[in-house]
Amino acid sequence: MNKTDVMAFQQEYVLGTYAPSVLITKGQGSYVWDADGKKYLDFTTGISVCNLGHCHPAVTEAIQRQAATLVHTSNLYMNEWQPQLAALIAKNSLNGRLFFANSGAEANEGMIKFARMWGNAKGKNEIICMEGSFHGRTLATLAATARPKYREGFQPDMAGFSFVPFNDLNALKAAVTEKTAAILLEPIQGEGGITPASQEFIAGARQLCDQHDMLLLFDEVQCGIGRTGRLFAYQQYGVEPDAMSMAKALGNGYPIGAFQVQRKHESVLPVGKHASTFGGTPLACAAAHAVISTILQEDLLLNCQKMGEHFKGALIQMASNYSFIKEVRGMGLMIGVELDRPVADAVRAAAQQGLLILNAGENVLRFLPPLNLNQSDLDQAIKIIDNILGGLA
Ligand SMILES: *Cc1c(COP(=O)(O)O)cnc(C)c1O
Repeated sequence: MNKTDVMAFQQEYVLGTYAPSVLITKGQGSYVWDADGKKYLDFTTGISVCNLGHCHPAVTEAIQRQAATLVHTSNLYMNEWQPQLAALIAKNSLNGRLFFANSGAEANEGMIKFARMWGNAKGKNEIICMEGSFHGRTLATLAATARPKYREGFQPDMAGFSFVPFNDLNALKAAVTEKTAAILLEPIQGEGGITPASQEFIAGARQLCDQHDMLLLFDEVQCGIGRTGRLFAYQQYGVEPDAMSMAKALGNGYPIGAFQVQRKHESVLPVGKHASTFGGTPLACAAAHAVISTILQEDLLLNCQKMGEHFKGALIQMASNYSFIKEVRGMGLMIGVELDRPVADAVRAAAQQGLLILNAGENVLRFLPPLNLNQSDLDQAIKIIDNILGGLA
């Protein structure tokens, strides 16, 4: 089918909740191609999903092999890959236990249910969330998401969520009541503008939870899976949550989400208390197992740290040349550049010059390149970014 027909079908039959303009037809490593054959360096990775680049051979092989062996059984039966994946994640993070879902929102939804089940047994069920947060588009995760625009029209909001300014420990302390069961935060806010939590805030939140018998919940859907140069962002802080969610890059594009709880909380959700038909299929788990194995075996965390440092250095250099750059922030290859103006034009201009980048809110450019990015592709991107920012001056 030709491009014009596909676009006409999109216009006529796909609900207009998105407004895409480029038709992508192929991806390989750090690159994608559109229907006209134009090549783009992809610094969006499908919003931190294809962290190994597009069509990584190890993931492709795992999907192909498993698709020909066993795709789905339901969780009424064990499959070979779900326990192996759980062990691989647990051994490289909290050494806890996992529940598998299909998306970030579903993983967070499960984590919220876990926190309520734990809290209700102690007479508390409220969750403190952060301004600037994003946790998904289902009703519970929307209620935990700060931006009112996303919730508009879907009222009534689900009860039991409140908000405090991110990185404001005093405000967090002041918000705790005897009804508070948990604190939920992204160690590095993604949609909210690539804003890392401060060490003091994360450590303070942990301390507060220990003092008041509350759960600390981390949403690592965007910042997890190697994005910051550690397998999970909490490892940057040396502060462990009681539970954390993951999704996006876990399957490198094959849909899978999960949440992990610390071993001491393993009995909070017993048989029958939570479920998902598609959660943790052998196909999804084989793909995700290949993803985590590849990150660890190919030293991609180290590459992410190195490339991230180089990239951030170049952006900080640009910030000294362009006064409209307010801040460069982030960790590893999760980097945001805040401008004093909207970034939409810069995002469009970058695409014209063959570089796909994202915004995070109105004024922040968001860069999420693959973790196996090489130096020459990075230098190419830096050149284009400098070019575009030069054009804004
Ligand atoms: C993307 C995202 C979600 C939602 O994930 P979906 O797979 O779109 O449901 C939740 N939390 C964070 C931090 C995210 O970036």
